[in-house]
Amino acid sequence: MPQIRILPTHLVNKIAAGEVIERPASVVKELIENALDAEATRIDVAVEDGGRKLIAVTDDGAGMSPEDLALAFAPHATSKIAAEDDLERIETMGFRGEALASIASISHAHVRTRRRSEAPAGQSEGGYEAEASEGRIAPVRPCPAATGTTVTIRDLFFNTPARRKFLRAANTELGHITEQIARAALPYSHVAFRLSHNGREIQNLPPASSTLQRAADLFGQELVEGLLPVRPRPGGILVNGLVSAPSAARASGKWQYIFLNGRYIRDRLLSHALREAYRGLMDPNRWPVAMLFIRIDPGQVDVNVHPTKIEVRFRDSQAVHGEVLAALRDTLNRANLTPDASLEETPEAPAKPQADGLEAQEEAGPQTEERRQSLRQALADFFKSAPRPQPRLSFPEAPRTWKKDQTQGLVSEPRRPLHQAPPEPQAPRTGIPEPVPARGFAPSLADPARPEPPAAGPHPMAPLPRRALQVHNAYIVTSAEDGLLIVDQHALHERLVYNDLKRRLADGTLTGQKLLIPEPLDVAPAEADALHRHAELLTRLGIEVVPFGPASFALQQFPAMLAQRGVPPGEFLREILDRLAEDETTDSERLLEDLLEALACKAAVKAGEPLTSEEIDALLARREEAEKGSACPHGRPTTLRLTLKELQKQFKRT
Ligand code: ADP
Ligand code: MG
Repeated sequence: MPQIRILPTHLVNKIAAGEVIERPASVVKELIENALDAEATRIDVAVEDGGRKLIAVTDDGAGMSPEDLALAFAPHATSKIAAEDDLERIETMGFRGEALASIASISHAHVRTRRRSEAPAGQSEGGYEAEASEGRIAPVRPCPAATGTTVTIRDLFFNTPARRKFLRAANTELGHITEQIARAALPYSHVAFRLSHNGREIQNLPPASSTLQRAADLFGQELVEGLLPVRPRPGGILVNGLVSAPSAARASGKWQYIFLNGRYIRDRLLSHALREAYRGLMDPNRWPVAMLFIRIDPGQVDVNVHPTKIEVRFRDSQAVHGEVLAALRDTLNRANLTPDASLEETPEAPAKPQADGLEAQEEAGPQTEERRQSLRQALADFFKSAPRPQPRLSFPEAPRTWKKDQTQGLVSEPRRPLHQAPPEPQAPRTGIPEPVPARGFAPSLADPARPEPPAAGPHPMAPLPRRALQVHNAYIVTSAEDGLLIVDQHALHERLVYNDLKRRLADGTLTGQKLLIPEPLDVAPAEADALHRHAELLTRLGIEVVPFGPASFALQQFPAMLAQRGVPPGEFLREILDRLAEDETTDSERLLEDLLEALACKAAVKAGEPLTSEEIDALLARREEAEKGSACPHGRPTTLRLTLKELQKQFKRT
C-alpha cells in the first residue's frame, strides 16, 4: 500500500476545478458571479475560440486592494464569509473561495484591478495586477487600470487534456456561454452585459428597467409577448416573474428559468410545481416559458450542497413548492384561461388584457378555433394525397362515402368526400386558413343551405352500423379480426406524416414552398447562430430563412407538404428553432431525423380534434403501413390491440 500523503496545493486546486469548471461557460459563470458580488453595473465578457483560447471578464465593480489581490488566487480565500454562522446565511453568489484558485490551476490567469474608492474620476492609474498558473502566483505589481476588475483566462484546460478533449465546437461552447449570461442577466436586469466572440460583439444588453425588458433584449420580443406576470403574494416566500399562457408553451424546456435569491437553480420540486400548475391546461409534452424569481430568507435555504451551487436545499421545501404553485395558479386564473377540456366547438371570448399592460396571448379563444380549423384543413389535405382507402377485411361494410343524412351518427359529417379530392399540387395556403365548413353539429358556415342536423345522438334511422368510433376526440376504436384496436389518432397520423416526409426527403421531392408574405421572427443570439450553422440542413428540408435586421430572420420558404396542411409558418419556425438551439448534436443526420419528427408532430392532427368518418377511415386504411414502423417517432405506440381472448378473460367467459 502506498503511504497516505497530503496533496500539493496546486493538485488540490486542480481536483476542485474538475468539479466546478466543466467548460469555458463555467469560467464565465464564476467570473460573472464575482463581478456581481463586487456590485458591478456593467459586465463585459470577451471570448476567443469559444473560450478555449481566451475568456476576459471586465467589471466596473468594487475592485480589490493589493493585499486582497495577493490572496485572490489562494485556495479557500474569500472576502464573503468569515465565520461558521455566515455559512447559514449566504447572501452573495460566491462564498467557497475556490473559483479563482481552481481556474488558475488549469489555465494562465491574470487579474487587473483597481478599487473604486481610490479612483479619482476619469483617472486610470492606481491599479494592480497579478497572475497565476498551475499553482504559481506571481507577486502583485502596480499597473494602470480602470476602476473595477478584469480577469483574463487564457488556454483553459492546457494541462488537463482529458477535459480539453471534451470541448465542443466553438459555437457550441459559445451557446453555453450565452446561456450563462442569460442566467445572470435575468435576475440582474439593471446590470449591463456585453459579450463578444473573436472581437465581434454578439450580445449587448443595456441596463433594463424591468425583467420583461431584459427578457425581450435577451430572447427577442416574440418570446415575451403575451407573458403573464406572476405576482408575489404576501408572506415569507415571495414568488414573482413571467410565465407564458398554456397555448404559448414551447417544444422544449429551455425557456424555464428558476432563480432563488438571484441565483439560477435547478430544483425538481419546483419544476414539478410548474408542471402541476399547467396540468390539464395544455399538452403535457409542452413546456411553458417561465422565468420565476423566488425570494426567501437566506437562513431558510442551504446553498452549500453542490459545488456549482446549481442545486440548493430548502429548509421547508413543501412550503416553497406550495407557494410557487399557488402564485402560478393565481396567475393562470387571473388570465382567465379556459382549458379546452370539453373539446366542443364553442370558442371562448378573447382573454382580457392584464392590468399592467401585459396582454394575455390570444390563448383560449380565436387562436384555438383558427388553429383547429387549419388543422382540419390540414388533415383533409393530407388525406387527399393519401392512397384511397380500400375496403378491408376488418370492416368490410365501411362505406367510402356518406350521404348527409346517414352521417349524423357517432362521428360527424365529412366535409368533402374523398373522391372529390382535387389532385395535387395544392394551391398555396401559407398560413391563411381558408374558410372551412364548421363541423360537428354546428350549422355549416360554407354551406348555409345545409339542413341543420338533429341536436345530438345517433340518427334514429341510421342504417349503417359503425365500425369505427372516435372516443374523446383522441382515440379511434375499431374491430379487428381477433378483437379490437384502439388507435391514438395523433400518434398514428404523426407516424404517417413522418414516413411521408422521410420518403420525400429520400426521393428529393420534399420541396419548399415560397411564402407569399415572408414570416418575420425575432431570435436570440444563440438561435441566430443555430440558423447560420444549420442553413444547409434546413435547405434540404425545403426551409429558407434569411437574416432580416440584427435580431430577426424572415422565413421565406417552408416545406410544401406542411404548407398544404395549413401549419402556420411562424409557429413552425419557432418549433424548429427550439429544436436547433436545444440540440447539441453535431451529427447532422440525427438532427435531420429530429427535425423531421418535429415537422411530423406539428403537421399531425392532435388529440382533441374531432375527425370525420372519412378521415377516420383513411387513417385506419394506412394503419398497417405505420405499424411496420411500430411506433410514432417519439417512440409511443400508435395502436393498442385487445384480443377476443383477452376480452373473454376479462369478462370471465372462459
Ligand atoms: P468566492 O467568490 O467564493 O469568494 P473566488 O475564488 O471566486 O471566491 O474569489 C476570491 C475572492 O477574490 C473573492 O472573495 C473576492 O474578494 C475577490 N474577487 C474575485 N473577483 C473579483 C472581482 N471581479 N471584483 C472584486 N473582487 C473580486
Ligand atoms: Mg467567486
